[in-house]
Order: sequence, then C-alpha cells, then structure tokens
Amino acid sequence: MPELPEVETIKGDLRELVVGSSIERAEVLDPALVEQPSVEEFVHRLAGVRVTGARRRAKHLIVELDTGDSLVFQLKIGGQLLLVPPVEEPRTALMLVLHLDGGRRLFLRDQTEFTRVRLLDAGELEARLSPLGPEPLEEGFAVEYLRETLGGRKAQIKPLILDQKVVAGVGNIYADEILFDARLHPRRKANTLSDAEWRALYGAIRENLAAGVEHRGTTVRLYRDVLNRPGEHQNYLRVFEKHGEPCPHACGGEVVREKVGGRPTHFCPGCQRLSGGGEEQRLTLA
Ligand SMILES: [Zn+2]
Repeated sequence: MPELPEVETIKGDLRELVVGSSIERAEVLDPALVEQPSVEEFVHRLAGVRVTGARRRAKHLIVELDTGDSLVFQLKIGGQLLLVPPVEEPRTALMLVLHLDGGRRLFLRDQTEFTRVRLLDAGELEARLSPLGPEPLEEGFAVEYLRETLGGRKAQIKPLILDQKVVAGVGNIYADEILFDARLHPRRKANTLSDAEWRALYGAIRENLAAGVEHRGTTVRLYRDVLNRPGEHQNYLRVFEKHGEPCPHACGGEVVREKVGGRPTHFCPGCQRLSGGGEEQRLTLA
C-alpha cells in the first residue's frame, strides 16, 4: 500500500538506477493497467524515449521523459516496480515490462491488479495533479493551513486527513499512526479540535511521514523498493494492525480495530478520547 514514504523511496531508486536510461519498448501484459491513452498509443509513444527524471506528487509516481510526456503510476495496494537485473525476473502478476537499454528491464508487478498508469502530456499532467492538496513535508505546509481548511468541518478527522485534496500522500497506515501520536480519536469531528490539538496533528503528520521516508517505507505485506527490498518502518508502528495488544503508551488499555469512514482503523480508546478535553467532554458525557 504505497503512501507518501513508499512512493518517495521508489522515486529515489528510479533517480539513482533508471533516470538517464532509454526505454527501447514497452510491453503491456495487462491492458486494464493503462488508463490513458489507448494501449496502442501508449506503446507507440514510449518506444525509444529517454527517462529524464523521476518525481513524486502525493501518491503518484511520475517518470519524466524527453518527449515532454510523463508516465504516471498509481501503485494502489500492491504495485511493485522491480529492476531486472539485479532483481531476479518476476514470473507472476506482471502488468507491464519496460525494456531499457543495456539489457535491463523494469517490471511492474501487482498481485492485486489495482495499479494504474497514464501517459500524459504536460497539460494533462497539470490537470491531473492540480486538485491535490499541499505536500506535508514541504516548507509551505503549516499548522494554520490545517486549522483554516478543516477547522470548520463537522466531518470525522481520519477521513479528512486521508482526503488527497486536503493533505497529499497520507494513506491508511500512516493516518492511524498520526492520530495515535496526536492523541486524537479517529472519529473526532474536525470542528471540535483545540489549537493545541491542531498543533499536535500537524506535528504528527510531519514526524510520521518523515520517519517513514527515513526508514524507506513500511512493508506490512506487499511493498518493495525497486531492488525488491522491504522497508523498515513496519518495525516502528505502534497501532496499525496491533489490535489486541497493550497500548504502547502503557495506559493500561489495549489497541482496538474498528471501521471509520469505511476503513479499518486502529487506535487506543484510552489515549484517544472521542471528545475533546474540558467543558465539551463533560457535556458529551452528561
Ligand atoms: Zn493508550
């Protein structure tokens, strides 16, 4: 389930290992992969192009080409990009092979088959990326933005931070970890957060995503980098899929799992209270 840190890691690998190479030809093994343009045009426009850059926007992996086109991957749940060699050739769940110069191949593999790719010109790319919210690890992302954008909303906080138009790149794993760190119940309504809670949420977003990047991503099940290595951040998770285990804050409670906004959600009901502190909590309990 590649989120910001996992896509950031893959981007770094592509910059190191693939940028500068030419794509001799593209081989589409699962036509459902290609959202735009047609498969025929996709293959035609990728023949003989050079890879000039790689970047990330939210959870999109963007491979820049010397034609001005960009190859935009959404790796969704199980998408893996694997460079052969050095990785041994994968045999199953293949969706796309990019045949590179020098006898190397970049395989797109996804046993969940949810990965999608688009080949976009500059205008199409801009249109695709423009609705996305700010990048949370960039300088311009500030606590005031969060409070002003969400402070009037009555929606639950977890679905709001998963909304890519609000904050780019947060997915289900990091959202649960962020809310645990900020001591916010995932069902808290955004308009009940105090200034201190907005600051805690902001800090937790930055710290958790930065730690995920530092640890080269989280491998709960399928995530791998371009050299087929798992990430390490799974060793640092406190609540995600830890239901039934004691709360890491040693509050005496245990981590629970419930659906919030349709997503499996992990939290400590002792540390993450549904109501804010003070007057509001007393009113809700009354
Ligand atoms: Zn707790």
